[in-house]
Amino acid sequence: MTTITRFAPSPTGRLHVGNIRTALHNWMLAQKAGGRFMLRIDDTDAERSEEHFVDAIRTDLAWLGITPDGEERQSARMHLYEAAFEKLKATGRVYPAYETQRELELKRKIQLGRGLPPIYDRAAKSLTEEERAAKEAEGIAPHWRFALDHEEAITWDDGVRGTAKFDPAQLSDPVIRRADGSWLYMLPSAVDDIDMGVTDVLRGEDHVSNTAVQIQMFTAMGSAPPRFAHEALLVGKEGKLSKRLGSLGCDSFRERDIEPQAIVAMLARLGTSLPVEPIADRAALLETFDLSTFGRAPARFDDDELDRVNSAIVHQMDYAGVAGRLPEGMDEAAWHAIRPNLSHVNEASQWWLLVTGPISQPEFSDEDRAYLAQAAEVLEWGEDPWRALTNSLKESTGRKGKALFLPLRQALTGMDHGPDMGELLPLIGEQEARARLASA
Ligand code: GLU
Repeated sequence: MTTITRFAPSPTGRLHVGNIRTALHNWMLAQKAGGRFMLRIDDTDAERSEEHFVDAIRTDLAWLGITPDGEERQSARMHLYEAAFEKLKATGRVYPAYETQRELELKRKIQLGRGLPPIYDRAAKSLTEEERAAKEAEGIAPHWRFALDHEEAITWDDGVRGTAKFDPAQLSDPVIRRADGSWLYMLPSAVDDIDMGVTDVLRGEDHVSNTAVQIQMFTAMGSAPPRFAHEALLVGKEGKLSKRLGSLGCDSFRERDIEPQAIVAMLARLGTSLPVEPIADRAALLETFDLSTFGRAPARFDDDELDRVNSAIVHQMDYAGVAGRLPEGMDEAAWHAIRPNLSHVNEASQWWLLVTGPISQPEFSDEDRAYLAQAAEVLEWGEDPWRALTNSLKESTGRKGKALFLPLRQALTGMDHGPDMGELLPLIGEQEARARLASA
């Protein structure tokens, strides 16, 4: 059976790093198995869903290189939910309920006051036809609940958490449809997972109790449930659920000039027993991807770690992959010279200024000025002008180490540190190099 996974964001906001991680892992799960990865837009909530968020989700996934093999939208599938609802109604698995929010809150308060879990008491389930008719005659439109089967424990073999077990009597019969006819998340998702042939549902552990309910929905609709896996949540560096992570998304990564490969490399491994490494090659990341390496402890997201991964990824990037983002005139040799100094690609333009100039040199001592004047004279342009220059100056002046190299670097670049001078000097060029040395 072909593995089919799905990523099901609600277009009520931008993707954040937690969503991105779920999308990535679903994509990887499908890729690794040679299967299909579907994007499902969960837009049943017409009021909160916005079209520009749908576009942003597509754009962000494309930027990350997480390419769906197909896309579905829940708003275009209402007929399926309606049909499933009618069937479940016919078999008595959904029932109308008439309590107001206030009544439900009161029930919960009383239960909590008695030290009981706030589970819905199923009062509406046992209403007689007459009682229902009376409610409707009062003009109360019902909302609808799915009747959990209390007979048997719900169990599944969770891809991350191992054997999971729920007592259905400890869960409330979930509301699946509001009085205005609109859908809540629970049933449409199960209907779609069946209809789309989803074989593996991988999502955050905040969905574990939803899974228990949905497993009963699959069964009630006559389908075998898919495999389920729930990954531990993503927390901030300090180990707590962080508000900031909830709004950290592709825009802020792009602003910081973080490479999508760095995000992917980090999120692929975070929370697993494998080390986070700057692996830009997706095939290599896929090779080690395995749900059995996922831990149950929260995965810690650390911005500094992302920056470190980013630097290491930038240091591996080919010219062809970045050429369009480099300053005018910066060629392959220049990229290779400058690349090791970069944490982010956009820093290339500052370093490129060392080549194009103008640069500002520090004040030199008289002694160094004489040394640099001598350098301007002996500069010879051959295969490796830096090596030739420093060898010759070493011999003629007896200078070595810092005294030999630093004034030259400062005069040629205006900086105390920077790219390898052997690579940089040819880029500066003979005339300009001589002029810089002579003007020191
Ligand atoms: N739209 C749901 C969410 O964003 C999807 C959950 C699921 O993967 O089933 O939480």
